[in-house]
Amino acid sequence: MTFVIATHNAKKLKELERILEPLGFDAVIREDLPEVEETGTTFAENALLKAESAMRATGMPAIADDSGLVVDALGGAPGVYSARYAGEGATDRQRYEKLLEALRGVPAEQRTARFVSAVCCIFPDGKILTAQGACEGSIAFGPKGEGGFGYDPIFLVGERSYAEMTAEEKDGISHRGRALAKLARELENWKKNG
Ligand code: IMP
Repeated sequence: MTFVIATHNAKKLKELERILEPLGFDAVIREDLPEVEETGTTFAENALLKAESAMRATGMPAIADDSGLVVDALGGAPGVYSARYAGEGATDRQRYEKLLEALRGVPAEQRTARFVSAVCCIFPDGKILTAQGACEGSIAFGPKGEGGFGYDPIFLVGERSYAEMTAEEKDGISHRGRALAKLARELENWKKNG
């Protein structure tokens, strides 16, 4: 069985391939998927919107994820708006600099945050599997590390930022890694029991 992955991000495709392959499933990206407006107020709603749209457009089982950074001192912002936090077309750096600015003067113990990822898998018969993962951490006082993408340089797990970890280290503890591991178990059960 082949799943269409509702993303334009090659890195997300790779992560999903790693969990689907041992289960005997394939993953493809399709460039012709319609743009989806992320109108949901939760990560799970947005993941469902994206997966459903991809499934309807292709007739194939589809998987989508939605993720973001939840900062306690900002009342949960940027949350589901993480991608649009500094406006459309902003760079990763502009987004994390805006976040650092919003936290200016906030002491270390109040800089707690978590990354959250919701994944949704939907089949043409309407069956839906979902999973969510989170990674607890805090917001640094400045960027650290060269790797990763997005808010990685300012998100600390313990003393180290996501951007200071290898891809394997990050996969092992990250919000998306955890959500995908749960989805893998859901898919395994679905394969066994339908
Ligand atoms: P989306 O799930 O592709 O809509 O991404 C939401 C936003 O959260 C984007 O701005 C991403 O850069 C950011 N984001 C999601 N996952 C990560 C991550 O693992 N590291 C850094 N930023 C992330």
